[in-house]
Amino acid sequence: MKDYYEILGVSKSAGINEIKKAYRKLARKYHPDLNPGDKTAEQKFKEINEAHETLKDPEKKKQYDLYGSLGANAGPGPGSRGSGNFEGFDFSTSGNSPFGDIFETIFGNMGEPRAQGGQRRRKPERGEDLLYSMNLNFMDAANGIETAIQVSHRQACTACKGKGIDAGSKQSACPTCGGRGRVQKQSGFMKFGSICPNCGGSGVLPGAPCRACGGDGRVETTSRLRVRIPAGVDNDSKVRIAGKGNAGRDGGPEGDLIIAIHVSPHKVFRRSGHDLEMSLPVTYVEAALGAKIEIPTLEGSALFKVPPGTSSGQKLRLKGKGIVNPKTRENGDLYVEIRIIPPSTKDLKVRELLKEIEKIAPYDPREELGR
Ligand SMILES: [Zn+2]
Ligand SMILES: [Zn+2]
Repeated sequence: MKDYYEILGVSKSAGINEIKKAYRKLARKYHPDLNPGDKTAEQKFKEINEAHETLKDPEKKKQYDLYGSLGANAGPGPGSRGSGNFEGFDFSTSGNSPFGDIFETIFGNMGEPRAQGGQRRRKPERGEDLLYSMNLNFMDAANGIETAIQVSHRQACTACKGKGIDAGSKQSACPTCGGRGRVQKQSGFMKFGSICPNCGGSGVLPGAPCRACGGDGRVETTSRLRVRIPAGVDNDSKVRIAGKGNAGRDGGPEGDLIIAIHVSPHKVFRRSGHDLEMSLPVTYVEAALGAKIEIPTLEGSALFKVPPGTSSGQKLRLKGKGIVNPKTRENGDLYVEIRIIPPSTKDLKVRELLKEIEKIAPYDPREELGR
């Protein structure tokens, strides 16, 4: 008969904590993953587990102390699935690496218990951010706009006040761990105790999930929201509206609403950063003699001065008439590109007069080509 106390190196009067401590120490030392190919270590590991299996259980320990080892045919008791038979064990088919498990259980449960079946461990979680796509015309994007939008989002459930638990239901013992807060986990023939993932170790389930929200604590709803889009937003930029995303869970803060901006092009203005560009068609007389011309700007029409002798393609700057930079509150500039449109020369008299002008004031516009 094997002496389980000797195997674990503890005295017959050892308490459960001492037994567990001795077991952990030895299991760590002889674990097959830490001793690959070592048959002695493997055998030793089996013995340690067998000893621990019996001595950690007060009922089995009592039996053992009275009658000795129960042997391999003792059969699995409740919650000790397959632990009676150590033969034919194959480390490579034990599913998850026992290596991982031994670190998890012997070196403490470092990971959070995972949620299962809606009975997750309840801790505050921030609500999700929501993305909303908004099309704006050029002027609204440049000048800013306040508008109402319809948003689908999750709001705190009124039926359960966001708790996710049916108000009429009572707390109950966790069925997964039987209220103990810890569960046995089988890894190969090793069994480990770990925090119950169903109740997070409390052993208690808070109550039935709220029927209105299915336990989420939040319900999907559509709200009408007034949002202010600041002046100067560009195409493909995003506007963040704090706290208008999904409600948080279990007292967590709300997420944000993120508005993705799409700006349609303008028939006159082109945007380049915070500057604006436009082309201004002028007659050759306006270009030659200079003129005051009414042009559109973001703030309505303005009188624009074309200096005498302006060439086609020349860019003239109107300071501060561009788009406001939402961060610096400074305005960009408006660049006006001159485009000279020739007169119609269908009339014979027009053609003669043009030639006359050329004769009176000849000039070489291609001087700079350096012929
Ligand atoms: Zn539990
Ligand atoms: Zn609810």
